Amino acid sequence: MSKSTETLEFKAEMNQLMDIIIHSLYSHKEVFLRELLSNAADALDKVRFQALTNSDLVADDAPLKIKLAIDKTNNTLTISDNGIGMSRTTIVDQLGTIAKSGTKEFLETLKASDEKDAPDLIGQFGVGFYASFMVADKVTVISRLAGETEAVKWTSEGRGQFTLEDTERSGRGTDIVLHLKEDESEWLQEWTLRSTVKKFSDYVEHAIVMDVEKETPAPEEGGEPIKTVTEEQLNSSKAIWLRSRGEVQDEEYKDFYKAISRDFGDPARWIHYQAEGTLEFNTLLFIPQNKPLDLFQGDDRNSSLHLYVNRVQIMDDCETLLPGWLRFVKGVVDSNDLPLNVSRELLQETRTLEKIRKVLIGRVLKTLGNMRDKSWDEYKTFWENFGAVIKEGVGTDFANRDKIRELLIFETSLTVAGEPTPLNKINENMSDEQDTLWYLVGETRAQLENSPYLEAFKDGSQEVLFLTEPIDEWMIQHLGEVEGKTLKAVDRGELPAADNEALAKTREAFKPFLEAMEGQLDAVKNIRLSSRLKKSAACLVADEGAMSSQMERMMQAMNPDAPAPSAERILELNPDHAAVTQLRSLYEANNDDARVGNCLRVLYDQALIAEGNQILDPADFAERINQLMVSALAK
Ligand code: ADP
Repeated sequence: MSKSTETLEFKAEMNQLMDIIIHSLYSHKEVFLRELLSNAADALDKVRFQALTNSDLVADDAPLKIKLAIDKTNNTLTISDNGIGMSRTTIVDQLGTIAKSGTKEFLETLKASDEKDAPDLIGQFGVGFYASFMVADKVTVISRLAGETEAVKWTSEGRGQFTLEDTERSGRGTDIVLHLKEDESEWLQEWTLRSTVKKFSDYVEHAIVMDVEKETPAPEEGGEPIKTVTEEQLNSSKAIWLRSRGEVQDEEYKDFYKAISRDFGDPARWIHYQAEGTLEFNTLLFIPQNKPLDLFQGDDRNSSLHLYVNRVQIMDDCETLLPGWLRFVKGVVDSNDLPLNVSRELLQETRTLEKIRKVLIGRVLKTLGNMRDKSWDEYKTFWENFGAVIKEGVGTDFANRDKIRELLIFETSLTVAGEPTPLNKINENMSDEQDTLWYLVGETRAQLENSPYLEAFKDGSQEVLFLTEPIDEWMIQHLGEVEGKTLKAVDRGELPAADNEALAKTREAFKPFLEAMEGQLDAVKNIRLSSRLKKSAACLVADEGAMSSQMERMMQAMNPDAPAPSAERILELNPDHAAVTQLRSLYEANNDDARVGNCLRVLYDQALIAEGNQILDPADFAERINQLMVSALAK
């Protein structure tokens, strides 16, 4: 192996990230210690885990631990562990670049966001090792990989470059030496370290120790006091989830949540549950208040609870414990019924886990149901942040669909803005004869309220769900029936009309006109009379079961190169509107009149605008309107 010393450059985004970390986490500097302790604990977990499966890797006899060491002369704080250690390559890969996926997108989000949100965002991102540079102007890492004899030393001032050289270390593990900035000497104080460890890392299962100097008075009068140094453990390493509920204070729950979630805010709810009987496990779950940055980012839409087996963390992101539609839930599950060396693949087939999962889902749903019934305002906020995630479950988790449905809340044509109502309540309010639950998809409530499709519902006798989230249309298709009521879009298919003689006559009278108009307008599948319009002259509708224009626009946005969807639309005309009746009269008086085609096109274009779409040729539209104005004003 070469004994080389090399100097390498940080990746470009690194300096930028470092600036952001240092500035935005200014009032949360203690985060650095939590991150370094958490890395050290991971390294200890890894060595223990590998020793289980790899007989070549003989764990040495020294107990696994993390040690803090203060050097007041040299102004350094050192965090050491006898964990797995790092090879030269690992160090370059992990500490020289930003290996984390999504860093670029993250930086962009951060730039676009409000400055005051930056600490929350960066905290969630997990700044990891780089947080060291908030308190240190130089960091030295000495590490020896388990099974190797040589060690490597990484040094950097956090900017531009880092150097690597070979070195020695007795035994495997890592030392992170922080050369503290001038005004960060508080980290040389025993009590600062003690209280920070207690607050954020108390539950860490491995011992976090420090040499503590104690003075005892001299045995003889006037003599020098006797100084003794003993290694003291700073954390209780007592797993909070194993303690009985009555014993744990609210503050402890909140601190633990912050320690595992990267959220600086308090959780909305916690669920501390100890299952006994045939299935024994302990769990502590948290429902956050704040929406994490990566809730909809990346491909990973799995949940990620920490899984412990008999107090030993075996996975910090177990996706099998909760479905993806509950991925916002944070927490820990500790079971004694699983083997310690269980693999991810094996977990998926474990019956025990399947049973635990069922219980966890049940508990979370119950807690949310309670919040909805007893703390409505809180539930509304929860729903704004996480409702869209839960809605994913409607289409992906058939077994729980009915229960998820009970959580759904919507704004409707009968609610005031900002005040949704539970789906079940809407259903209860409906008369027994009404067999359809209507909905309308759009971008905003205001757009829906002014939509021509709603005109027939303006009398308020029937409630229309307003679906304004991108996921809604997909979700509603998977919702099926709601207690015997069929869900239908008000802008699709034909609305039921009172079948009477007058209507039949109107239809008959309009027939030749409509047929002729169909021949003049290629853009639509057909033209018919509308029973949904009261005020507007025209609107476009899709056939029952077809995609809404909203969905079409979304599909196009996702794949702009795809050809425009062939909208097999139907143009509906309002037979009571003067624009329509006069157009018919004009046509009947002179079916060659050029104004007929012109007006029909204007009706079509205004229907496009009303459904939130764009007209294909705005200049042409303007020209037609101008012509109409000229002839109207000339009179
Ligand atoms: P994260 O912990 O989120 O992966 P960090 O920047 O904190 O990000 O650390 C990057 C990587 O460096 C870790 O994933 C790990 O592989 C390695 N590492 C950091 N600290 C240690 C340590 N004390 N022992 C072994 N490996 C470490």
